[in-house]
Amino acid sequence: MECVQGKAIVGGTAIGTVCLHGQAPVDVKRSRVEDTERENERYKKARAQAAEELQQLYEKALQEVGEINAQIFEVHRMMLEDEDYNNSVTNMIMEQNVNAEYAVAMTSDNFSRMFEDMEDEYFKARSVDIRDISERILMHLTGTAKENKLQGDKVILLAEELTPSETIQMDKDAILAFVTHVGSANSHTAILARSMNIPAITEISINRDWDGKTAAVDGATGMLYIDPEEEILQKMRDQMKKEEERKLLLDAWKGKETVTSGGRRVELYANIGNESDVASVLTNDAEGVGLFRTEFLYLERTEFPTEQEQFQTYKYVAENLAGKKLVIRTLDIGADKQADYFELEKEENPAMGMRAIRICLTRKDIFKTQLRAILRASAFGNISVMFPMIASLWEVQEAKKLLEEAKGELSAEGIAYKDVEIGIMIETPAAVMISRELAKEVDFFSIGTNDLTQYTLAIDRQNQKLDAFYDAHHPAVLAMLQMVIENAHAEKKWVGICGELAADEKLTGKLVEMGVDELSVSPGMVLPIRKAIAEI
Ligand code: PEP
Ligand code: MG
Repeated sequence: MECVQGKAIVGGTAIGTVCLHGQAPVDVKRSRVEDTERENERYKKARAQAAEELQQLYEKALQEVGEINAQIFEVHRMMLEDEDYNNSVTNMIMEQNVNAEYAVAMTSDNFSRMFEDMEDEYFKARSVDIRDISERILMHLTGTAKENKLQGDKVILLAEELTPSETIQMDKDAILAFVTHVGSANSHTAILARSMNIPAITEISINRDWDGKTAAVDGATGMLYIDPEEEILQKMRDQMKKEEERKLLLDAWKGKETVTSGGRRVELYANIGNESDVASVLTNDAEGVGLFRTEFLYLERTEFPTEQEQFQTYKYVAENLAGKKLVIRTLDIGADKQADYFELEKEENPAMGMRAIRICLTRKDIFKTQLRAILRASAFGNISVMFPMIASLWEVQEAKKLLEEAKGELSAEGIAYKDVEIGIMIETPAAVMISRELAKEVDFFSIGTNDLTQYTLAIDRQNQKLDAFYDAHHPAVLAMLQMVIENAHAEKKWVGICGELAADEKLTGKLVEMGVDELSVSPGMVLPIRKAIAEI
């Protein structure tokens, strides 16, 4: 048995088989082949297997994470049919008498370099896709392709690092736990793991030999056990039993009002990242969605989601919530959430760079498309719109102006929409200080304590080395919350919290005492917070 101490990110216990995410690159050697026809057939077979695998991944992703996120697999499948790419591989095999592996690796190098050298950022970004599909063919050629373990048994996923876009694409039901080497407690990847309710630990030096072994993960203590002894297994099983019992006890809070023992009502909503999260909103009995992080719809795609695609997603969520409030946050891309096709320049300080509303007000076409989609969906449910990363009054006024323009366009086109409530996120100290003025402009505030803490304490939330300094209960942050709540109420506007602090049971009493009207938490935290509020 190996015991490795990592850092706890998301609590919970898991026992299962380790699955290494991300293959080691295939080492390709050139060799001479005499039977070039046979070699070409090998290539065609491997390509067909890769295509079939992509088709399966597409279908699975379609069900799990929706059309928008699934498209990358369809795009890769289509790239496998590219005539230039295929001719290049076949010609090399036939004319240079080389093995298929070498022909694929060379073609991959040539094509990806060609794309990389292009001026156009969109084409530049395609070089990654070329390498990706080539790697997939190579794995089939060399027999190193694993069956897609995530399709069958549940696994403990082991990875050097997971980006938010990789995490959002994963099949929640196939993962028992996340184990990574790199990752901070406040990153979006951690937030996603929390919203999926999957135990997670980080700061584990990954050993590739663990792949396929049995392991146990203790998400609360950050311990990883490889080939655990019976004693540890028993301890973990007991822990899992207790977690299950706690879950059952919490079920008793379903269908109840969220109210303190003194009779004060608090709205208790959930945070989601894509349409498939709606199921857990409903099963955990959230009273609405207080934060729909729409940027996840834009990640891991090769082009912008169209107005129609976005409309369908927002409409689906709104309809499934059946009249419950749905707060759609407009695009908060940038910083750690990157999509190549946005062609964002590399920045020295991405967290303080071109992100969220700054992108939307600079690239109005992208913003308008989203606003139109949100407005169109508003006809099918109870939708509010919320702008992220506000620092100045003019940003809100400009965003509202663009919303009005979008309404005007829809009216002219005879397309139905409702007058949506408008809110902003309070995530910068600047927004806190001018919150009284901001409150006059909007219907509600939602405080994003993840970023507010980052910007108040000057701590990069992505930097795991700084986690010890990231004090979510810092008196400066708490004073800011109080100030925002008072300013919102002075203007008769409601105010919620949608950062991770909203789910911090140690603080629930204090937040309610401060006068917060709404808390929006990951779906799995709805019932624990309802219980915590009732116990105030
Ligand atoms: C926040 O900053 O608190 C927030 C809810 O937004 P995100 O975590 O997506 O940046
Ligand atoms: Mg934020």
